[in-house]
Amino acid sequence: MSKIPGSSSGEEGSPPEQSAAGQPLLRASSLRKVYRDGTRELEVLRGVNLQIETSQILAIIGASGSGKSTLLHLLGLLDRPTSGQIFYRGRELTGLKERERAAMRTREFGFVFQMFHLLPDLDAQENTMLPALIGPGLFGSPLPRSRAWKRSADLLARLGLAHRLRHRPSQLSGGEKQRVAIARALMNAPAIVFCDEPTGNLDAATSAEIYQLLLDLNREDRQTFVLVTHEMDLAARAHRVLRMTDGRLSSGDESAPALSS
Ligand code: ADP
Ligand code: MG
Repeated sequence: MSKIPGSSSGEEGSPPEQSAAGQPLLRASSLRKVYRDGTRELEVLRGVNLQIETSQILAIIGASGSGKSTLLHLLGLLDRPTSGQIFYRGRELTGLKERERAAMRTREFGFVFQMFHLLPDLDAQENTMLPALIGPGLFGSPLPRSRAWKRSADLLARLGLAHRLRHRPSQLSGGEKQRVAIARALMNAPAIVFCDEPTGNLDAATSAEIYQLLLDLNREDRQTFVLVTHEMDLAARAHRVLRMTDGRLSSGDESAPALSS
């Protein structure tokens, strides 16, 4: 894969590679999340502490229902913790207003989900372009359509989809759909890409290909990833593995019960 200009490379005002001196890129402190369902309370996260360094692949493993997606949603500003703090480049985020959170989410973070979440009526390139057109984007304002057009085509070509630009999701294989979703996640040159079981809906061979792609993006572009996965062989290739158990994170290399899903 060749590098895409503007992909975390420091060109054209993209986010700086280095966190502020001594700061981890992202840090969570004592995160708690309690879901309330009528009178019932479910404490899903019970004090999660976590640190992500620039250019790291951090894998989070754990049984189904252990709170991995919940944690990812909090870290990616898709949801708010019941209590606790999140610091991005040293700046506390949990107190931000919704509009600032949305701006930061679009500008700094990318997301890849198990079910792809592509818009069915848009083709691969239009899906990829979306994050640059809706938000503050790569350069602090929505990207002019011509620039977004070029960048999305470059990204899709890099991910092996140059011949699929005009295909809609229904005309793509699972692996191709996930490549489009990864291209879309990279559109605004995010500092962190959050992946929630990105290979959970793919066969073993395709899953290995997609994971290799993430490793390549990390190696070549120094792209930071937070990756939730239940595939241990994949998690083992991350720089760091943390395990979610009973609402807390621990070092993933301790012996622990087998994962369910
Ligand atoms: P994982 O991703 O590890 O499978 P989740 O974070 O999706 O786990 O869910 C953790 C627990 O929180 C589960 O018991 C789930 O049912 C519950 N949960 C998740 N989202 C909500 C919600 N919006 N309201 C109530 N309970 C939820
Ligand atoms: Mg989940």
